[in-house]
Amino acid sequence: MKNLTSVTPQTVTMAGAEKVQMQLLCGPGDGAPSFAMRKFIIAPGGCTPLHQHDYEHEVLILAGGGVAFGNGRENAIKSGDVLFVPANELHQFRNTGGMPLEFLCLVPAFVHQSGAPQPVAVNCASDMAANKK
Ligand SMILES: [Zn+2]
Repeated sequence: MKNLTSVTPQTVTMAGAEKVQMQLLCGPGDGAPSFAMRKFIIAPGGCTPLHQHDYEHEVLILAGGGVAFGNGRENAIKSGDVLFVPANELHQFRNTGGMPLEFLCLVPAFVHQSGAPQPVAVNCASDMAANKK
């Protein structure tokens, strides 16, 4: 057992990520063979990259609010919302509010094993408007 406050947030350096930090709460380093639990914190005005990968996400919004892009459209998100992002779906989380947007995001454990391929950002946040139809 450990406490959330004991896990040092890491800045997400993936191309297109802005003002995003991640805490790897539980994963291969804890001996977990199948799943990894991460908490993300996006500062106001920040966003994850618009990206896709061949595994799914299960997301629980913990605090704050913003916009999630998925299934080809934008959805307002707030504390308590649960999102399922299927494999290969293009997705992005953006903090459009005035407080940190915090959420849990679960992935397969292999994502956090050394040498795992990184997902590819399709577009940076500034390209979002051009991407919308
Ligand atoms: Zn993702």
